[in-house]
Amino acid sequence: MYEEKRYSGSCLCGGLRYEVQGEIGELLQCHCQRCRKANGTAFATNALIQKADFKILQGAHLLKKFQSTATAQRCFCADCGSPIISIKSDTPELYRLRIGTLDTPLQQKPTKHIFVAYKAEWDNICDGLAQYDERP
Ligand SMILES: [Zn+2]
Ligand SMILES: [Zn+2]
Repeated sequence: MYEEKRYSGSCLCGGLRYEVQGEIGELLQCHCQRCRKANGTAFATNALIQKADFKILQGAHLLKKFQSTATAQRCFCADCGSPIISIKSDTPELYRLRIGTLDTPLQQKPTKHIFVAYKAEWDNICDGLAQYDERP
């Protein structure tokens, strides 16, 4: 029988709550400079989801959009700054979810490091996952 996948997540302040009803794609550790700056970390953990599967349950007015490149928007909580999703204009039917904001336990594990050519020089990648200079 088909088992419906349902995940919930929230920002740091809890003002913004969302739900994903559907599959969460491959977990990618993105080392690009924009992800590093947006998160203040060595890399961001992002996964593709269908826009149609994403629903904001609370605090939709808090989701602020920042145009980080000509074709990408990064959406975060205006109160606490938690990054939630990013949207690329060439794939508007997909969102890139910031996996660290999930509250539902996730069974799947990261599969790849991407944009490793841009990783922080102080960062050591200590796992055996595949590494790609850019997007594979
Ligand atoms: Zn917040
Ligand atoms: Zn990135």
